[in-house]
Amino acid sequence: MIKLNRIARPPELTAKKKRELTQKFIKEKKSVWAVPYIKNTLFKMSNGKCCFCECKLGEEGKYMHVEHFHHKDGYPNEVVEWSNLLPCCVRCNTNKGIHDTVLDPIIDVTLTDPRDHLILDNYRYKSRSNSQLGRTTIDVIYLNDTDHLVKPRFDIANKAKETLELIIGKAREYKDGVNCSTQRKNIIVNGLKSLLKEAHPNSQFSAIVATAIIHDIDYIEFKDILISLNLWDAELQMIESEVINTSLY
Ligand SMILES: [Zn+2]
Repeated sequence: MIKLNRIARPPELTAKKKRELTQKFIKEKKSVWAVPYIKNTLFKMSNGKCCFCECKLGEEGKYMHVEHFHHKDGYPNEVVEWSNLLPCCVRCNTNKGIHDTVLDPIIDVTLTDPRDHLILDNYRYKSRSNSQLGRTTIDVIYLNDTDHLVKPRFDIANKAKETLELIIGKAREYKDGVNCSTQRKNIIVNGLKSLLKEAHPNSQFSAIVATAIIHDIDYIEFKDILISLNLWDAELQMIESEVINTSLY
């Protein structure tokens, strides 16, 4: 789960259109929010990911659901209120169901940084410092679903760690003078850039992958090697900053 910046509402969703769609929903109970201009803008806002579990939408049948943070049956006047709409996968949408976030709040990632309320422990989210908001979010969204979330998180983070072990081996050889070719240097530097991009906010399960990489002892050694060889460049610094901002501490 990562913080998202809410982008501007789609221009088609004028005050007049909002009134019209809201009335239509109240009278006819139609899915008035399921229009391309709303769905496409929400998809863009989350880089094509579910706002809760960070799975990629549009892949493996995980098409995007428009999530009503304040559920539409209890709060029909907010059915197309831009600040109430979020992009979400079917799993998270189903788990949240008609949970009342006004009476029993969960994290709205466009308003609250999940890192203030959640930590990671073995690919499972835990509440930070007994945060009630964190605990309710984990339970309502069922964020520690072993088969659908914890195992895929482990697989993707483990793959990143395998890649890290592979390229740090090459970096150690380069440092020790075993292979100091330009080709080897390019593999090391660009390999690390590619790896860090897998933990970029655009990527699937970015909070998990970022946390796994940034706190890995191999990563810390790798960075030290590149700095000592003057190979730690401005692009690496920039990508790393984004990864740190995505990781949980
Ligand atoms: Zn989800």
